Amino acid sequence: VRVRAVVSDLDGTMLEPDGSARVELREALRRLSDAGIPVCAVTSKTAAELRVILADLDLVTPAGFENGAGVFYPDGRIVLGTKAVRIAELRRVAVRVRKATGAPLRTLDELDDGELAALTALPRRALPAVRRRQASLPLVVAPAWDARIASSLPAPSHLRALRGNRFLHLQGDHDKASVLPALLAAAGRGDGAIVACGDSPNDVELIAHADLAVIVPGAMGPHPALLAARPDAIVAPAPHGLGWSAVLLELLAA
Ligand SMILES: [Mg+2]
Repeated sequence: VRVRAVVSDLDGTMLEPDGSARVELREALRRLSDAGIPVCAVTSKTAAELRVILADLDLVTPAGFENGAGVFYPDGRIVLGTKAVRIAELRRVAVRVRKATGAPLRTLDELDDGELAALTALPRRALPAVRRRQASLPLVVAPAWDARIASSLPAPSHLRALRGNRFLHLQGDHDKASVLPALLAAAGRGDGAIVACGDSPNDVELIAHADLAVIVPGAMGPHPALLAARPDAIVAPAPHGLGWSAVLLELLAA
C-alpha cells in the first residue's frame, strides 16, 4: 500500500490514556516522517493543547482541533471552518438546554481545576489550554441524557451534541471529517491512500471518509460503532500507541 497521508485521532489512538506518548509511537512517527508521509492529528482537543502536543511529537503538519471546528497550522495560524459556532453562543445554548431538559449537565467552564484534572487525567499545568476553547463546549452529563439533549437543540440546527470518551461536545454541525479537505490540501498532492485512525465514536466520520481505516482498540477492544462504520477496517493488534505504531509500520513496509 502506498500511503499519501495519515489523519489520526490523538487521545487513546496515538496517545496513552494518561496522555503520554510511547517510545514506539515516537519511532513510528520518525519513520513516517523519513518516508515523507505527513501525519495530521484530528482531535477534540483545543488549538492551545495541540500546540504543545505537536511540538512534543515533532509533528510539523496542520491539525484539526475541537472535532473539526478548524485547522491549526504549523506557523501558528488558527482558521475556523464555516460550520464552527463560537464558544460564546455555545455557552448561551448550554444554559437554555439545561433549562429545557432538566439535565444535570455542567459545562467545562463550570468545573473547577480539581474536577477537570480528575476527568481528563491531565496534570493541572495542562488545564489552561483545555479551557482555551474556540468552538466546542464539553458537557459533563450521563450518556443517558444524550438523546434528550440532542433533540432539545434549537431547530433548524446548526448545532450538534457529539459523544466523546468523557464529554458530550456541544458544537457546530461539523465533525472530524470537516477539516479533511483543508488538511489534505496543506499536506500536498500525491498518489496513495489516505489512512485514517481512530478509537471512539467521534472518529466515525473521519474513518468513514478514508481510503484505509484503522481502528485502535481500547482496553475493552475495538469500539463497535467504528466496526459498524467500517467493517473493512484494520483493527490494530494492541491498544493505543503500540497498536497504532504496529499498523502504520506494517503499511509502510508493505
Ligand atoms: Mg480518541
